[in-house]
Amino acid sequence: TPVIGVLALQGDVREHLVALAAADAIARPVRRAEELAEVDALVIPGGESTTMSKLALQFDVMGPLRERVAAGMPVYGTCAGMIMLADKILDGREDQETVGGIDMTVRRNAFGRQNESFESGIDFKGLDGGPVHGVFIRAPWVEAVGTAVEVLAELPAADGPESRIVAVRQGNLLATSFHPELTGDHRVHEYFVRMVEAV
Ligand code: GLN
Repeated sequence: TPVIGVLALQGDVREHLVALAAADAIARPVRRAEELAEVDALVIPGGESTTMSKLALQFDVMGPLRERVAAGMPVYGTCAGMIMLADKILDGREDQETVGGIDMTVRRNAFGRQNESFESGIDFKGLDGGPVHGVFIRAPWVEAVGTAVEVLAELPAADGPESRIVAVRQGNLLATSFHPELTGDHRVHEYFVRMVEAV
């Protein structure tokens, strides 16, 4: 059984711990580099990416996170966690650092402000059982991806013909704009646990 940490600096940590346990992983919070060293994989939760980034630097886990990602540790980021996994961000705070690892450009708050949060059914490539219930809260979207990035889900734009990328995978890194941890549907967490088991 894989041991999967949840980065517990800020954000919806508890919901991910519950979802991971439901997906048959051993889940525990990770705050310090010593704790990071003890897990097989990591979830970076939703929350506020500028605060999370600042705390990661303050707690001296940004460097260790980048090292583990470079060494191939599987990581799943939701929303703010997606932003943390992006090599490039738009509309970030001036000096906002990310862990990086996915060759993508992510636009923060792209779907609008808090009161424009919404829910939508998402066709998620590789998941059986119908659309995933997507909860979007001041969510980012993926504006551009490199050739190594596999697009797993897109959302039709509200105001035009083009669609927005909301789930991606590059190697052992997985990211979604939305929050499966806030629904009772654990299929995306199960997908991630299978990724971890395949390493
Ligand atoms: N808007 C937040 C950010 O930029 C992300 C929101 C979320 O994680 N629900 O960090």
